[in-house]
Amino acid sequence: MRKLFSFFYNKDKDYTKIASVNKKVINEYNEIMLSVLTLICGSLMILPVVVAPFSTTKLEAIPLYLIISFIFFVIFFLFKLSFMKKYVLIGLYFGFSVLFLFAMYLSIIHTPHMRATILLGVFSIMPLGFIDRPRRMRLFLLFWFVLHTFLAFNFKPDFALDDTINSLCFSIFGCIFGHIMLWARLDGYEVRRLLIVEKETDVLTGIYSRRKMLEVLSSLEKDEGEKPSGFMMIDIDNFKKFNDKFGHAHGDKCLVYLGEVFLMFSKKYRMDFYRYGGEEFVAIAYGYDKNELLSIANELRLAVQNKEINDQKITISIGVTNIEKEDVKDYMNLIDLADKAVYNAKNSGRNKVCVESN
Ligand code: GH3
Ligand code: MG
Ligand code: MG
Repeated sequence: MRKLFSFFYNKDKDYTKIASVNKKVINEYNEIMLSVLTLICGSLMILPVVVAPFSTTKLEAIPLYLIISFIFFVIFFLFKLSFMKKYVLIGLYFGFSVLFLFAMYLSIIHTPHMRATILLGVFSIMPLGFIDRPRRMRLFLLFWFVLHTFLAFNFKPDFALDDTINSLCFSIFGCIFGHIMLWARLDGYEVRRLLIVEKETDVLTGIYSRRKMLEVLSSLEKDEGEKPSGFMMIDIDNFKKFNDKFGHAHGDKCLVYLGEVFLMFSKKYRMDFYRYGGEEFVAIAYGYDKNELLSIANELRLAVQNKEINDQKITISIGVTNIEKEDVKDYMNLIDLADKAVYNAKNSGRNKVCVESN
């Protein structure tokens, strides 16, 4: 029992952390669920109209079935509008509230001489229906359970106890399976996210990996995404000497430090940094002209010198390429140009910024 309790309690605590980093996929899943649920509910509500001539109980509820069906189709189409996407959770809670109200009407007003049936389905489906904070979902379920129990004891006392036990059982069933399903999904999303981070991040420096850079270049060549305005190739000066003098581990410290400076710059400017090879890095910049690129490159060069590692200033040489023509077919050529610019920077004494125009 304690294990079961901690399974719920500990997982609930993790929800905010995991959900915040997987917001996008959770929202996409909820969007699909809202579409599916409203479409299914909207369509199923039409069925009683078809069977009404053969049923003695359905006839007077027909207008309500049609109204509810209409509401679900309205929600379905409303949430196809792009500006509604951020309100998907509200749509889901609203949709389930409509369903609860409808099931309670059937139980309390329409057929008070019978045990509730559709209501039991709603109690068990709701916790399985989408992804949100587990406690909020359970609280929502509890609210409808308490409300129905209260109304049942007042308006259908003969069946109130049966209804209470039945709906309680179905709610517990829904909560347990909902919890298991929710975490199976969230754990899957988290594993996928971590795999992508692992694939795209360089372990040592924390900046993007070469693999990520190749993916970005390939999508640019396929005409996807914003076109960059320039490339930088960055190479540490005399790094081999540094390694030879202080050892590889201290050399790695320099790379970690460089990663920190690059991440700072990627926050300050519209540019992303990639570890191209050992101690060579590529930066892809967006929206800057040649002079701006040169000034950012110089600022970067000076920023790197700010800290000494093993009482030694670390300096870098930067090759810049600005993109002047619109339709670039092969972005690797631009990186080669930036590489040529680094070569010139090295030849002119290192700790320099050189440019090669496209
Ligand atoms: P230059 O100024 O001409 O660039 O001289 P350099 O010594 O930096 O020469 P180069 O750019 O060819 O640097 C290559 C050296 O970088 C070789 C190796 O010692 C070092 N290096 C490459 N990858 C790593 C790494 O992951 N960790 C450490 N510590 N050193 C690395
Ligand atoms: Mg090098
Ligand atoms: Mg070097």
